[in-house]
Amino acid sequence: MQPTLADIYAAAKVIRGVADGTPLVPSPYMTDRAGAEFLLKLENMQPIGAFKLRGAYNAVAAVPDASGVTCCSTGNHGRGVAFAAARRGMRAVICMSELVPQAKVDGIRALGADVHIKGRSQDDALAESHRLVAEEGLVEISPFDDPLVIAGQGTIGLEILQARPDVTTLLVPLSGGGLAAGVALAAKSINPAIRVIGISMDRGAAMHESILAGHPVEVEEVPSLADSLGGGIGMQNRLSFPMCRDLLDQIVLVTEDEIYHAMQVLYYEDRIVAEGACVVGLAAVLSGKVTLDGPTATIVTGRNLDMEVFTRIITGQDVQLGDVTVKGKPYAA
Ligand SMILES: *Cc1c(COP(=O)(O)O)cnc(C)c1O
Repeated sequence: MQPTLADIYAAAKVIRGVADGTPLVPSPYMTDRAGAEFLLKLENMQPIGAFKLRGAYNAVAAVPDASGVTCCSTGNHGRGVAFAAARRGMRAVICMSELVPQAKVDGIRALGADVHIKGRSQDDALAESHRLVAEEGLVEISPFDDPLVIAGQGTIGLEILQARPDVTTLLVPLSGGGLAAGVALAAKSINPAIRVIGISMDRGAAMHESILAGHPVEVEEVPSLADSLGGGIGMQNRLSFPMCRDLLDQIVLVTEDEIYHAMQVLYYEDRIVAEGACVVGLAAVLSGKVTLDGPTATIVTGRNLDMEVFTRIITGQDVQLGDVTVKGKPYAA
């Protein structure tokens, strides 16, 4: 069953005091460049460093006391589930592929969860989490295709519109689509005229390819500066696919070069340390792929990045992503 606005209000109650109330701040530089007020919703300030705590906490709160939980994750969902399970004194096993950066693995282990590394894709990690459900009776929490997770992420949309009902466009980083589905549901239920644009990197954009095809499709998973946006949407997708298909006005794709530059912008202009996945909204505007017609907000989704890669980017050095080199360039406004 698809979640409703009422489910998002219910989620807001569940997560209150744990995963809510992040700042919404103006970006003077982006406002200047975009010709419209540009706001940043700082989910990088969540206790686990990413918005995923909202959905994970809302979903884990509904699991019976004596159970344990499992999930597959590109990193931040696993961290959210691990945090929520620890708060409830539950066992958590987080399944990830070898593509997940070490910083994220370490962060999850530090929260007391077990980590299982399986294969080179999200699908391999998902298979491991299914095994744990079948063999050890753990409850699986999907990173995006779960009504409670989507409702939890949707609370971001509520908070933005409560603070700024005059926002006309939301730029939402898009991977499995739990965030975009929830935020679009909240925003469009409150203001049907608002424009919600999903943004992915141009290599391995699973939701984009799936919407074009009319059904979930598999994409090749390649390393990206926006590593949190990697992975498929699940061939059995029930919720986030139809919701993104029906609620998003547009999907825009940005290149690795555009992500690289936007990470420099967010750091040098706004002094914010954030993952590649967070800056795709800035990249879409700076590249001219999206034009704005009024106050706009994007979601700075998380800060759990590999500091070695980040240092290379802000010092203008090349970054190697598998067999692709993102050419370094010192920052210039
Ligand atoms: C998970 C994640 C996203 C994308 O969210 P989806 O619900 O999978 O679309 C974006 N940014 C960060 C930092 C994330 O961890």
